[in-house]
Amino acid sequence: MSDQTPKSPIQQKVVDYFSYISLYEKELYLSPQPQQHPPSITTPQAKSKPKQPMTISQNPYPEYSPHNDLVTMHSAIGGCIRCALGSSRNKFVFGVGSKEAKVVFVGEAPGAEEDKQGFPFVGRAGKLLDHLLNEIGWSREEVYICNILKCRPPNNRDPVPDEIEQCEPYLHEQLRILNPQFLVALGRVAAQTLLRTNAPLRELRGRVHSYQDKPFWVIYHPAALLRNQNLMPDTVKDLLTLKKMVETGQADAGIST
Ligand code: SF4
Repeated sequence: MSDQTPKSPIQQKVVDYFSYISLYEKELYLSPQPQQHPPSITTPQAKSKPKQPMTISQNPYPEYSPHNDLVTMHSAIGGCIRCALGSSRNKFVFGVGSKEAKVVFVGEAPGAEEDKQGFPFVGRAGKLLDHLLNEIGWSREEVYICNILKCRPPNNRDPVPDEIEQCEPYLHEQLRILNPQFLVALGRVAAQTLLRTNAPLRELRGRVHSYQDKPFWVIYHPAALLRNQNLMPDTVKDLLTLKKMVETGQADAGIST
């Protein structure tokens, strides 16, 4: 199915980008991966494990405590085994970017390539994200990119409630340290998880939500763009709107109703 809508120069450049990458190639990053640690997956029994009330003095996980900076935090939590993913991960994927970032992009969890390298969004989808940022005049180095979960779920499945409950406080702490101007969910799962909603992404994008008292914007996941090029014009539009909101400091700048 081809998109007949006239494209802006930026949209056309992005579409051209697809002409030299293979859109539907089954690549390692996007394909289901062989399960490497079958016995250590979160089980229904683990999910129903009774929660232990904690006090600060009894807290065996001081990594939730406030940290002075991201480096200290990373080294404090890098060995986390609060959920079952801690024993199945290859690399802990903390996050990358500028500590001065005005915008923090949040995906749901590391994929195969991220688990291999220890950095978020480094596969084909990550390269497309870099390309899109460059097209609006930004770079990976000046924003911050992380995930809700710091460890890869097996076979790239969606995060389960126990993993989110255990790991989301780390995201809160990262955001407290970074104190960005805007948060951006990369894709449906991240958006639905953080907003506690089942609404489809097409209803969530294009309006400003709130997360941790920050304006919260939602865009399509770059992997979805690799699968469906027709989502590209809306994504470019959403990124340009985001840029305008960041530049003006107004959370509703550039939103057309
Ligand atoms: S996913 Fe989060 S809570 Fe689970 S082990 Fe990894 S860092 Fe810890």
